[in-house]
Amino acid sequence: RRAVFAALKSEPPVTKDGHRLAVMVNAGLRDDVAALDLTGADGIGLFRTEFQFLVSATLPQRERQQRLYRDVLDVAGDRPVTFRTVDIGGDKALPYLNGDGADEENPAMGWRALRLALERDGLMKAQARALIDAAGGRALNIMFPMVSEPWEFDEARALFEAQRDWIASRNRMLPSQIRYGAMLEVPALAEQLDLLLPKLDFLSIGTNDLTQFLFAADRANPKLAERYDWLSPSILRFIRRIVDPARDAGVDLAVCGEMGGRPLEALALIGLGIDRLSITPAAVGPIKAMIRSIDRSAVMAEMETLLARPPRDLRGALAHWAGEHGV
Ligand code: PEP
Ligand code: MG
Repeated sequence: RRAVFAALKSEPPVTKDGHRLAVMVNAGLRDDVAALDLTGADGIGLFRTEFQFLVSATLPQRERQQRLYRDVLDVAGDRPVTFRTVDIGGDKALPYLNGDGADEENPAMGWRALRLALERDGLMKAQARALIDAAGGRALNIMFPMVSEPWEFDEARALFEAQRDWIASRNRMLPSQIRYGAMLEVPALAEQLDLLLPKLDFLSIGTNDLTQFLFAADRANPKLAERYDWLSPSILRFIRRIVDPARDAGVDLAVCGEMGGRPLEALALIGLGIDRLSITPAAVGPIKAMIRSIDRSAVMAEMETLLARPPRDLRGALAHWAGEHGV
């Protein structure tokens, strides 16, 4: 099978009925970027910038950040890269950030990601400058993590625009284009899609955090691993509600959580109308193979049926359907 997946490297993820989907990779360190060529992925849908901070004993200076971002863009070439601003705090506490938040009782839903970044804005200002400078003359995609309210997106974007203006005032080269997007991983945000979507260029569903918040089940606690299923009606119906509004608003919608890297889960997502997946590099071959074996409209019809009157074992029912349809 390895050989089969390797052979798929230069084959596009097109369904049998001719839909060109996008399969991108998640990355976080310089070496991860090699996965683009190894897998033939369409780009980096999620670059977790906090990895550079987490592996360093001291706060990475702006020049060092800039070098990393430039290297990533160099390797990616024409393929798009989406940089997520730092998702630190909570359980990813940085010792050099005064240890704030390290002793929170519920760090996953604590002072982390954008919440921390908007208050300690020196960190995100430096990151914004590093990203904008690194992308001079090229397209830049910026994604904000853990957005809970539309105004948080506005503030984060304004911070970036101010840094862009500063760089312009120095006559340094600007990116050819800057696109801004949000992660949807806090369920509350979905209730304000009508207010949020007009502001966005793209939206990416982070199913790792979204699932733990939707099911109130710690994603890192093995005792809970059997308590919820990515193929449950709750999460699938939740995601389905986002698809049409995003398309109507002209906002690119992707899924970037681990869910998208599992063939049956990815099949379900495609059946909900998700056309863009960003996944762990090792999953690119299997997911491409699955995509090339399906008829998208048949999968969509099946998901519609399954979600209208969900069977108790939706996973089993979808697996059975997949087996019968040569997936
Ligand atoms: C997610 O929450 O689904 C996600 C992609 O981000 P992370 O796993 O880095 O929290
Ligand atoms: Mg997350």
